[in-house]
Amino acid sequence: MTTMSATQTSDVPTLLVKIFGKDRPGITAGLFDTLAAFSLDVVDIEQVVTRGRMVLCALVTHPPQGLEGELRATVHSWAESMRMQAEIISGTGDNRPRGLGRSLVTVLGHPLTAEATAQVTARITAAGGNIDRIFRLAKYPVTAVEFAVSGVETEPLRTALVTEAAALGVDVAVVAAGLHRRAQRLVVMDVDSTVIQDEVIELFAAHAGCEAEVAEVTAAAMRGELDFEQSLHARVALLAGLDASVVDKVRSEVRLTPGARTLIRTLKRLGYQVGVVSGGFTQVTDDLKERLGLDFAQANTLEIVDGKLTGRVTGEIVDRAGKARLLRRFAAEAGVPLSQTVAIGDGANDLDMLNAAGLGVAFNAKPVVRQAAHTAVNVPFLDTVLYLLGITREEVEAADTLDERLLGRAADEEH
Ligand SMILES: [Mg+2]
Repeated sequence: MTTMSATQTSDVPTLLVKIFGKDRPGITAGLFDTLAAFSLDVVDIEQVVTRGRMVLCALVTHPPQGLEGELRATVHSWAESMRMQAEIISGTGDNRPRGLGRSLVTVLGHPLTAEATAQVTARITAAGGNIDRIFRLAKYPVTAVEFAVSGVETEPLRTALVTEAAALGVDVAVVAAGLHRRAQRLVVMDVDSTVIQDEVIELFAAHAGCEAEVAEVTAAAMRGELDFEQSLHARVALLAGLDASVVDKVRSEVRLTPGARTLIRTLKRLGYQVGVVSGGFTQVTDDLKERLGLDFAQANTLEIVDGKLTGRVTGEIVDRAGKARLLRRFAAEAGVPLSQTVAIGDGANDLDMLNAAGLGVAFNAKPVVRQAAHTAVNVPFLDTVLYLLGITREEVEAADTLDERLLGRAADEEH
């Protein structure tokens, strides 16, 4: 019986046993049953399966004196009987300890090209990073791969990768590895052009027949001639006199962004709290909160008197600073430190919120927002944000299945 522990030093002889071939049940059990005859200890086990082919690596302590030849012959003969290939490499110790500075680099491609992969990984190397592990998070609706990198601090790695990602046709997120990532527990999203595909003010304007005027105010705000609050008041004023029944029509016209439901459902299943903040209107966000099971929702409120929109808003104004303030408020209410929050948005209005959050994600955003955010998603599926959080497609689908079962059971109980 050997006594080396897995944490012991590098000069202890070890054997690396690599098995390669068609994946099927029983291979791991068969290999270790074969090794057990030699009273070895396990130092490490890793297995990957790619297109039905497995690579199983077992690092074990060296067999007692004089038994290595017999071990090699036994393992090869077992592998042959299983129609697997085996390779056994003598050496010492375990992996070198990972370097300081640990990050997770998530790359999303639609498709993910070999060229983009070459460029991203070459930049990791050039920044001084070593890739310790590679793992596919998803193949649908995008190809998402996570690289565990060590040897370089997160910030310089992010700078090296994120700024040029768009030119490579991929989205790249770089976050510090570690326990805090798993502690991210609050996601706050913008609404217009983020959770929904529409700009709610434009939907109202269409009913009021003032689309052109509203668009002109929006353009003036974009030219910097009006700040958000001025442009909000100017645009809402154009809605004065509109019948309040339009609110229901607008609610029914709102189109969710593809993947929004999946994103929210999965986050809720995993125990996250989820909120929305909007420079639009509570008349729509309250409805979304209800429909999507959100924990928080805040926006401006259109004043309605005697069944008509007055052209004014009431209450606290939600603007660029207001969104960041609400993120802080929601975090405090949720009991989540700001560093463990995620914010998602597309507009300049979202920048303070994106910067205040632990992870700010620019979603199909304008270049100015994309460049200022921690990371950017440029595919039109909101659920791809899950992959930036390290959540796999399998986990997403497991949450769906669980929901279906619960819904099925609820339906049964009703009968
Ligand atoms: Mg927006």
